[in-house]
Amino acid sequence: MSFLSVLVFFLCCCYSAGENEPIQTFVIPHSHMDVGWVYTIKESMHAYAGNVYTSVTEELSKDKDRRFIAVEQEFFRLWWDHVATDTHKKQVRQLVKEGRLEFILGGQVMHDEAVTDLDDEILQMTEGHGFLYETFGVRPQFSWHVDPFGASATTPVLFALAGFNAHLISRIDYDLKDTMQKDKKLQFVWRGSPSLKEKQQIFTHTMDQFSYCTPSNLPFSNSSGFYWNGVALFPDPPKNGVYPNMSLPVTKETIHAYAKTMVDNIKQRAAWFRTNHVLWPWGCDKQFYNSSVQFNNMDPLMKYINQNSKEFGVTVQYATLSEYFQAIHQSDVVWELRGSKDFLPYSTEPHQAWTGFYASRNVLKGVARRASSQLHAAETLFTRYRISFPDGPVAKNWALEKLRALRWAVSEVQHHDGITGTESPKVADMYMQHLTQGMMGVDELLAALFLLPHSLETPGLLSSRYHKKGVHHALEQHVIVYNPLAWNITTIINVTVAFPNAAVLDDDGQLVPAQIQRSAQSNVTYDLFIVVDLGGLQHRKYLVKLSEEKCSARSECGRTYKAKGVQFERRVTRDSWETGRSLLPVLSGSYELMFDQDTNLLHSITHLQDKRRVMMTQDFWEYQANGDVKAGPISDSYIFSANGSAVRSYRAVEMEIIPGKIVTEIRQYFYRDEGDKDYTYSIITRVPECFGGRLQCHRLEQRYWVGPLHLNTEVVLRTSSSLKNNRTLHTDDNGYQMMKRTYREFINNTVARNYFPMVRAAYIEDELSRLVLLSDRAHGASSQANGQLEVMLHRRLWNNLPWNLGYNLTLNDSSVVRPALWVMLGSISTAARLQQREAIELQHPPVVTPIDQPQKPWHEKKPRRLSPVRSVVLPPNLHLLSFSVPGWNYSPNHAVHLGHITSGKDLHSEPDYDRVLLRIMHLFEEGEDPELSKPVTINLKDVLQGIGEVKGLEERSLTGTWDIATLQRWTWKTEDNLESNSTMCPSGGDGAFNVTISPKEIRTFFVHFASKNF
Ligand SMILES: [Zn+2]
Repeated sequence: MSFLSVLVFFLCCCYSAGENEPIQTFVIPHSHMDVGWVYTIKESMHAYAGNVYTSVTEELSKDKDRRFIAVEQEFFRLWWDHVATDTHKKQVRQLVKEGRLEFILGGQVMHDEAVTDLDDEILQMTEGHGFLYETFGVRPQFSWHVDPFGASATTPVLFALAGFNAHLISRIDYDLKDTMQKDKKLQFVWRGSPSLKEKQQIFTHTMDQFSYCTPSNLPFSNSSGFYWNGVALFPDPPKNGVYPNMSLPVTKETIHAYAKTMVDNIKQRAAWFRTNHVLWPWGCDKQFYNSSVQFNNMDPLMKYINQNSKEFGVTVQYATLSEYFQAIHQSDVVWELRGSKDFLPYSTEPHQAWTGFYASRNVLKGVARRASSQLHAAETLFTRYRISFPDGPVAKNWALEKLRALRWAVSEVQHHDGITGTESPKVADMYMQHLTQGMMGVDELLAALFLLPHSLETPGLLSSRYHKKGVHHALEQHVIVYNPLAWNITTIINVTVAFPNAAVLDDDGQLVPAQIQRSAQSNVTYDLFIVVDLGGLQHRKYLVKLSEEKCSARSECGRTYKAKGVQFERRVTRDSWETGRSLLPVLSGSYELMFDQDTNLLHSITHLQDKRRVMMTQDFWEYQANGDVKAGPISDSYIFSANGSAVRSYRAVEMEIIPGKIVTEIRQYFYRDEGDKDYTYSIITRVPECFGGRLQCHRLEQRYWVGPLHLNTEVVLRTSSSLKNNRTLHTDDNGYQMMKRTYREFINNTVARNYFPMVRAAYIEDELSRLVLLSDRAHGASSQANGQLEVMLHRRLWNNLPWNLGYNLTLNDSSVVRPALWVMLGSISTAARLQQREAIELQHPPVVTPIDQPQKPWHEKKPRRLSPVRSVVLPPNLHLLSFSVPGWNYSPNHAVHLGHITSGKDLHSEPDYDRVLLRIMHLFEEGEDPELSKPVTINLKDVLQGIGEVKGLEERSLTGTWDIATLQRWTWKTEDNLESNSTMCPSGGDGAFNVTISPKEIRTFFVHFASKNF
């Protein structure tokens, strides 16, 4: 132990009770490394990120007092796998063991909190945690969410479930932070979930106004402040190691000025906290790539301060985040409580509302969610396959490679400058490329799982067949439909075909209800709607018979309903419309929709069960954004600053209604100008029939066409209704929980500051009815007037702010976007009962895979029917969140695992294919529904029987790395004295497979199945 640490130890022991004790400062060296943003990952690795770990490893090995926290795992893993030498690896293991290099957060990225979905947040943490635990036997216990734009109430819940002891945030509203700072309320215990309450509470530290960067602009040195190493250089690091903008070195002449500046800053910050400890983050974006310069200047400076600590009233020490939080935890303070309220939206000043990014880069947001949903489907299908056919011909290592590529791509884009849409165009292209490549790989895997024979003895779906002889006018195509949910569903799928006539048969050879009609987007294709019945995690094969020729009423294809559209004349908008004179009804088992022939717009919806009519219209409006910084506040990829109210964005509307027996489709086309040939916006609404209650017919499925936009416009879909919601709306935090958003008046920027993120859902309601919108990707949502719910769908912006121009962050997005929303209207109790499950059905639709091209009919040698796989069905309030083969290789017993690591085994080279990770989530909040909000007990052996025989079950922490029985999170003293108790007692004996899941709980298990030998 060096002199310095003895001194620090001495000080904190002896002064802890005194009034005049020196302030204990925890200098936490860190580098904020955006996984994207302005530069691609490859560029960042080359220019600085690789050097961060090389240089920090070397520098920490030189001096026992030095520390560093490693945050974003993607960069660390790339370094570990491709850059680190054997010596570096040995040094890292030693540093980790000594607790001097500490993994914080541990996710692949520091995920965004506003527009990310729960599934993907969990995935990206699981990926990072799995790697860290397998490689080092360490489990991160603290968060470092220093840069996400606002803070969600779901994040602290997930971190608590992952076993974290404390959470750290930074970006919250400027005025709120000022107040909290003044009142010493930056630290609190957060109960993020109103249902899980103290069970999953977590201590939360809000960074003060200096946030995560060391103060710069020192009076005697330049803007790189205490970093000394200057600014990272792109594309290549300088050959001579001299970076631009390097600060004055610490010398005899400068040391006192440096010390005084640092001490003044520490004292200023100490006044904002309740204990005598100051967290002093040392670093900023892209730092520590040249860390010898940083440590060689900071070492003597800290020594100087400690030598003069009496005079300064301050001691300083290098620390990891856990050392800081340990000190706080031992401080014996009773902490204030925060309920389930989040910190969204986020403003940095009155005109800087960070609410634009909720809608920036709609295409990327959509592809990211689609990739996530495809990943879930492939994970569940492959897991099922592995259990049923452990020696089947789909190579397990090939399959895992495909899954891992998509896991990595979906994880990466969750970065807070990724899915947010706030990155440069080349970085957006990078995310998109990684996602599409990953999806193509998983498509191959899905095809292999569907098509290859399932075991060596069972013939495949397409084998032993030959073309029938003779003349055929008809062609046939086979489609496999897979239901990735653990619920039985009856739903409508849509297959696009090139023939006007079709018949559909299921794998029993039974005709299936179907409807065919001309596609909305093309004159040469047809939409074939098929009603499918699928058990949980079940797939079925459908045969589609296609024909050019007319079908007789008695023929098979005559039974498919041919729907024909009725066109309505183009209507030009007028300032004052007379409405309601001539209404066209569209009736389903759930609703009566009225369309107005004078406007071609929706007029009203009656929900039939409650016999309540709600006036409702939907159309498109635009906010005109300012792009000139000299003319006022601008809108950019982050910020929305409405330049006045929205204006109607069209001059004429056309409508076509295609009445159907399975769905009725309403197509509305919006033209910018009366005489335009091409429309700029459209709404395609599908109203499903109820089929005697079999089908979910209370959802109206809408898909939009938006764009390309004029420059500097931000487009909203505005749903205006007669609901008296008083401009209050509810939007979700990450698809996990709903937040009440009350309208607030501000002196400036009221429109933008009343925008909120909508990841899966938003609703407005009055005392009788609720109008719910569910979405397939994130948007911004707002209620700007009574009865209104507007959703920002797309933005195209340019501005002349030099910073934006320099980094190419102006968001000149000329794409056409095609998002989908499901609309539901009903009594509050009906809507509350349905919306969670419906949101998940939108998130995880059936996977429809045509497995061949339309061709002459096959004749099967042995007409045979594959017995369909058995279904897996959970109660309606439980959702199968994950069912996958993670592949991480570690013993469930921590001591045993550490033993393996010490013995030097390469665990990563032998993935574990037999461990199945299962997560089950309760969808309801306490008290939300009289029945569905109750805790549910299920027997997992019974539930999973359709897949195989469950032999063993171990309950784990959210990311799998803790045995839940050994997880003891820190307890904190709170105002109500309810200390958290996160341990759960696994039941024993025959009941070992019985699991009770309470409202909003997410339970994670490792499941072991008995091996099957076919
Ligand atoms: Zn960042």
